[in-house]
Amino acid sequence: MAEHEVDGLLLSIGADLPYFTGYEAMVSERLTCLAAAGEGPPVLLVPELEAPRIAPRPEVFEIRAWGETEDPVAMVAALLGGARRVALGDQTWARFVLALQERLPEVAFQPAAPLTRELRIRKDPVEIDLLRAAAAAADRVVARLAQHRFSGKSERELAREVAEMTVAEGHQIATFGIVASGPNGASPHHEPGDRVVQAGDAVVVDFGGRLHGYCSDTTRNFVVGEPPDGYRQAFEVLRAAQQAALEAVRPGVTAAAVDRAARNLIAAAGFGEYFIHRTGHGIGLEVHEDPYLVAGNDLVLEVGMTFSVEPGIYLPGEWGMRIEDIVAVIPDGVERLNRSDRTPAVVA
Ligand code: ZN
Ligand code: ZN
Ligand code: ZN
Repeated sequence: MAEHEVDGLLLSIGADLPYFTGYEAMVSERLTCLAAAGEGPPVLLVPELEAPRIAPRPEVFEIRAWGETEDPVAMVAALLGGARRVALGDQTWARFVLALQERLPEVAFQPAAPLTRELRIRKDPVEIDLLRAAAAAADRVVARLAQHRFSGKSERELAREVAEMTVAEGHQIATFGIVASGPNGASPHHEPGDRVVQAGDAVVVDFGGRLHGYCSDTTRNFVVGEPPDGYRQAFEVLRAAQQAALEAVRPGVTAAAVDRAARNLIAAAGFGEYFIHRTGHGIGLEVHEDPYLVAGNDLVLEVGMTFSVEPGIYLPGEWGMRIEDIVAVIPDGVERLNRSDRTPAVVA
């Protein structure tokens, strides 16, 4: 906080709070907020009825419960003491931010992310172990899907099965699941719908869950019988592009350089305009966090950073494809945390 020239820090919903305290706030109209200011220990202000959820860690923070008739915004203002520059968690609800600003007009608020990012962006060995375990659980789902029947089922039905497998294979919860079949595959964040998968479809499956707080996120491709014309040739381009990006990862290179490694190959094959998103995103307690692998990001990769490498090609009206692995930067390059087969499995 001193380095960032702030004398107060407020963390509400989002991943910063569990990162520091082990407690994840309920997303709710009742305010939960960790307030750190001055010399005393940080105070975790929590709705009285949610206090039993918290595992006490008196060496890290103090717990203070607020009752239904109390004003938590006034309590936060009091906890800040005389702080003048206060960093505030990114996802704090506007209603609390606006109420605090009104109550404390002399305080300058700024985002906490630049401060918390510096700590969260490099994972320690315990965090990497959890990400490795989550990735292995996701890989087991992929192996099951390669033996799974796709045709005759709707995307929605398949997404439900993927979510069930995600939990069955070791995650505590499934966080998201994209099943995009046929032409729907060209929409990278497609919402699974009523389209029934049929022979000749290429299907993109992108899913993830959380294991002890840490996220998995992987994408694999499946073909029902014979894929459409041109699909297999394009897939070889994509495979080479993802491999080139993986090989570009090592300490000292920029995030942008990894994106460029994938993009150059896809563009050279004539698919440049069909690769419509960044190459990857950091992952940890959040499924999308720093660092982002995108043109213009000169952030230098360091040991312990973890992120996805997920180039894709999306031909509108025809098909889409994406290969996504989670990786960790290690001293001599890269460790792939996902190890499942990247070749599109032929399914029934
Ligand atoms: Zn995505
Ligand atoms: Zn994904
Ligand atoms: Zn992803």
